[in-house]
Amino acid sequence: MLGGVEEWRAVSRVLKSPVLLFQSVVDDLVTTFFPADCRVCGGPLTSAGLSPLCQECLDDLREQTAEVYSTLCSCCGEALDLDGLRFTQQLEGSRILCHPCRRVPPPFERAAAWGVYSDGMREAIQLLKYERVESIARPLGERLARVIEGLAAQDMGRELVVIAVPLSGFKQRQRGYNQSVLLAQAAVERLKRRDGWRFEKAHNAMIRERMTESQFGLSPHARRRNLRGAFAVKDPAAVSGREVLLVDDIYTTGATARECSRVLRQAGAAKVWVATAARAQREMVVRWDSGAEKQTAAG
Ligand SMILES: [Zn+2]
Ligand SMILES: [Zn+2]
Repeated sequence: MLGGVEEWRAVSRVLKSPVLLFQSVVDDLVTTFFPADCRVCGGPLTSAGLSPLCQECLDDLREQTAEVYSTLCSCCGEALDLDGLRFTQQLEGSRILCHPCRRVPPPFERAAAWGVYSDGMREAIQLLKYERVESIARPLGERLARVIEGLAAQDMGRELVVIAVPLSGFKQRQRGYNQSVLLAQAAVERLKRRDGWRFEKAHNAMIRERMTESQFGLSPHARRRNLRGAFAVKDPAAVSGREVLLVDDIYTTGATARECSRVLRQAGAAKVWVATAARAQREMVVRWDSGAEKQTAAG
């Protein structure tokens, strides 16, 4: 019988996609006969197939704003503590930079994230990555779209080459998909029909050449060394002279974003902008690295 439920959900997805008119009818039928549970809290879902999370869980996803963290680095979004803020007077205008961005300016223009990588957001991303709940890409992608709009409100152009951080061939085969590609697609889907926006997908332009050691427990320096040579641009023509939007699920220490941006710039990309669904902050990384919490963040 369980297989039957899955099949009916699949049928409802097929039915719904081209014929929006029937969507609410199909939703009602599927909800009546096969009510699903929210994948995070187990509560009932009222709208079948639209989101695997209930409204309460969606509302619980914590946005990374100035209310949560008083000041964020203008370049990478790192939360700044008092130590970090002591140097801000040295900077021109309203730009406030964290220590790593001041010391070694990143090869990307700006990295922005929608949410804080904790609680519901962490569960949602882990379901997407490890439990094959691909439909979570949609609500997260909608939030990623707001990050992309935010970058455009700064200096980012609206004609972009979109590249998701690639997985190794082995991981991609094992998982069956790249979660960052799904997030990028969901976000682009929301923005592509708006005036002035043009997206060119080029997810295969960059590849991950080798499996990297887990970033877990590595120092920032070791993370950078671990990733050195991990990525390669296979199709420089796709990025040459263009603004690239690099999409990833989580921004942890920035090692991955920096290394991908470095090879993209080397291949001729004019600018690289980084958008992620979530961001881990330093205190979380320190907690994971000390082994207090098992963690599989990529970097
Ligand atoms: Zn829920
Ligand atoms: Zn920074």
